[in-house]
Amino acid sequence: NKFESLKLNKDILKALYNLGYNSPSKVQSEVIPRLLRYENIIVKSKTGSGKTASFAIPICETVEVDNNNLQALIVVPTRELALQVKEEISNIGRLKKIRCSAIFGKQPMKDQIKELKQRVHIVVATPGRIIDHISRGTINLESIRYFIIDEADKMLKKGFVEDMEFIFNSIPKNSIKGLFSATIDKDIKNICLEYMKDAEMVEV
Ligand code: AMP
Repeated sequence: NKFESLKLNKDILKALYNLGYNSPSKVQSEVIPRLLRYENIIVKSKTGSGKTASFAIPICETVEVDNNNLQALIVVPTRELALQVKEEISNIGRLKKIRCSAIFGKQPMKDQIKELKQRVHIVVATPGRIIDHISRGTINLESIRYFIIDEADKMLKKGFVEDMEFIFNSIPKNSIKGLFSATIDKDIKNICLEYMKDAEMVEV
């Protein structure tokens, strides 16, 4: 298993083995070590490249399971993607007993608030609903160490620019940030210039 050279926790390695992931994909080889070194990154990469695991693996690796605070937030453009990303994180974090929730619109707020009180380590969310929780004070972002924006181009196409800015302004300044996108256009560059000045660009 070529993931061994990344010096991952044995529960994570075993989970990857169970998933049939034998060696890191190109984007995973580029992204995993950087996120483990706590570097901010902008990744130009398409769906199907294994990009989900490229952030899910380092996040699961560094989550402190005995710490009941929310430690990572992943923002995605659609509920379908939220469920997919949650599934991948749950699979990778299963043996380490990591708790992950997907939070999106058109679901009762009451149930989500209850779920957020179950001491989840990682939340995958769509922008509108997470902002709702931030505004109502029903989610605590103080302990966030990783903030990921997945499919940023689709997010901006759906008119989520101000939402993205709101979320960037709500997370701890020193959190590690990763932005993933199939294309890097002017809007994305502007956001990165504003909020991810020191980020390295990785193209795969
Ligand atoms: P993604 O680009 O994240 O949507 O992943 C595309 C597909 O590749 C998904 O079905 C993953 O389960 C699979 N996958 C991700 N990483 C690996 C890997 N290292 N080895 C084999 N399959 C993988």
